[in-house]
Parts: sequence; C-alpha cells; structure tokens
Amino acid sequence: MLLITHLATEVDRLSDQQVELCYHCHKCTAGCPVVGAMAYGPDHILRMATLDQREPIFQSKDIWLCAGCYTCATRCPNGIDIAAVMDSLRQIAVAEGYPASEADVFLFHRLFLGVLGRLGRSHEAVTLGLFKVRSHQPLMNDIPAGIGLFLRGKIPLLPENLRVARPVRKMFEESK
Ligand code: SF4
Ligand code: SF4
Repeated sequence: MLLITHLATEVDRLSDQQVELCYHCHKCTAGCPVVGAMAYGPDHILRMATLDQREPIFQSKDIWLCAGCYTCATRCPNGIDIAAVMDSLRQIAVAEGYPASEADVFLFHRLFLGVLGRLGRSHEAVTLGLFKVRSHQPLMNDIPAGIGLFLRGKIPLLPENLRVARPVRKMFEESK
C-alpha cells in the first residue's frame, strides 16, 4: 500500500534537499531555459510542494519539461538543487500513477537510459534517431533545428571515447 505523506517531506527525503528553505527570490525561474513552456516555473513548483498541492504539480507539464540543466541550482542563494527536486517529483508522480502530461516522455527517458547503459555515456544522435523511429514522429519534422545543432557541434555523429564510459556501463550491468 502506498503511504501518502506531505509532498515536501517526501521530496526532501528523495532529493536530499530542503525545499522549505526557498524564500522565492525567483532567481531560479529567471534563469530556467524552458520556463516559457512551463505553467508555473521552478520556484512556484517548490512553493506548491510546501503547500502539498499535489494535483496541480502532477497534472502540469513542468516537472516533465525540466531538462535537468542545473541552471537553477547554480543560481539559488540557498543552495537548493532544484533539478534534484524535479527529479524527485517525477519519481513520486510515477509511483502514484499520475500519467506524464508530456507526450512520449517515458519513451524518451527509457531510450536515453538505454543508450547510456550501452555506451557508458549519452549520445544525442543515437538517442534522437531512436526516439524518432520509436515515437513514430515524422523524421523530417526537426530537420532544420537538427542541422543547426549539428553545425554547432552539439550532435556529434560518433561518441567521444570517455574514460568513465566503462565504469558507467558496469554500473548499469550491475543494477540489472
Ligand atoms: S533561487 Fe532558490 S530561493 Fe530563490 S526562488 Fe529559486 S529555489 Fe527559491
Ligand atoms: S534544471 Fe530544470 S527547472 Fe532548473 S533551470 Fe534547468 S530546466 Fe529549469
């Protein structure tokens, strides 16, 4: 049986953060690259968690749109790792059976982790290619953006050989 506790308590436990320290200076939200697509933004999400407002948080796209870029965490004067908080909120949403309000987000997460486990590192070209095929999205949809990213070196065709790749692969194998 799933024990429902106060949302902020559960988030603090899972993320090892203290969302109650937030005094809503808005610095995190001001630097978030995807806030324009969010309904609330990171500082508002933290406030809602301290008020135990589960439904609006889990029914919004915000926790699924968070790219985990850590911009917010680097800006927070209270040292709150908001990316970890968002991650915890996603874990709770999944555990409590809330459907992801962003299409194909579970598929993307699974493919990302699959590539990470196989290569020992992320690889944008492989992940995007797999996502396009598995999500049945038209291949040509994102071509202009893809070309721009490729020309800026953001989507290398071959994965760079990293020393940490082997231990990362081992970690994935051992976790099975
Ligand atoms: S930067 Fe930190 S203290 Fe400021 S609103 Fe965001 S989480 Fe709260
Ligand atoms: S980690 Fe998420 S919430 Fe924080 S700035 Fe990046 S996208 Fe926004």
